[in-house]
Amino acid sequence: MFHSYLVNSLKFHKDRCINCKRCIEVCPHGVFSAGESHVELVHQARCMECGACALNCPVQAIEVESGVGCAWAMIRAALRGRDMDSGECSCGGDAGSCCGIE
Ligand code: SF4
Ligand code: SF4
Repeated sequence: MFHSYLVNSLKFHKDRCINCKRCIEVCPHGVFSAGESHVELVHQARCMECGACALNCPVQAIEVESGVGCAWAMIRAALRGRDMDSGECSCGGDAGSCCGIE
């Protein structure tokens, strides 16, 4: 069976990346990591589609269909059978808000 809800919309165009590392700084889920000439997309499945990386990328190297912040993240977590309180999203926690809403 094809589980379309398990796939997120995050797309990384590494040919555009100028290695500024802003996406690493703003992503609350460690989706990107540092690389030699560009960052690496290392944990795509962790992406909650908050949109912070795409908003902060100066060269549009990241595309993601972000929803409505935490509410959307909660819906997606429920669809995936995950628990928002067990590390799925850290909004409001020690790591701060991933969607910019406190
Ligand atoms: S959309 Fe949010 S969770 Fe996904 S990679 Fe970008 S900053 Fe990280
Ligand atoms: S924010 Fe954009 S340009 Fe900067 S490291 Fe991330 S993908 Fe590359």
